[in-house]
Amino acid sequence: MTQFCKECGSALQPGEVFCKTCYSHERDEYRIVKEYLRTHPNSNAMQIANETGISISKIMKYIRNGSLTVVTNDGQRRSR
Ligand SMILES: [Zn+2]
Repeated sequence: MTQFCKECGSALQPGEVFCKTCYSHERDEYRIVKEYLRTHPNSNAMQIANETGISISKIMKYIRNGSLTVVTNDGQRRSR
């Protein structure tokens, strides 16, 4: 059974989720988000998406994976 890349639809090698092109692209985007958070530690997902041009769904995925730590998604300031 042939699997296809979720991003671009090209045929995959067994065990791959993305083709090699999309995989390295994904890694680049992850690095960009990480780097942005390093310089802007209190950003929320919306700000990161706006500033990096990476889709918010991808950023949310990284956050859900636990690979990134950001402020709460709604960005609301909570009264103490
Ligand atoms: Zn691909």
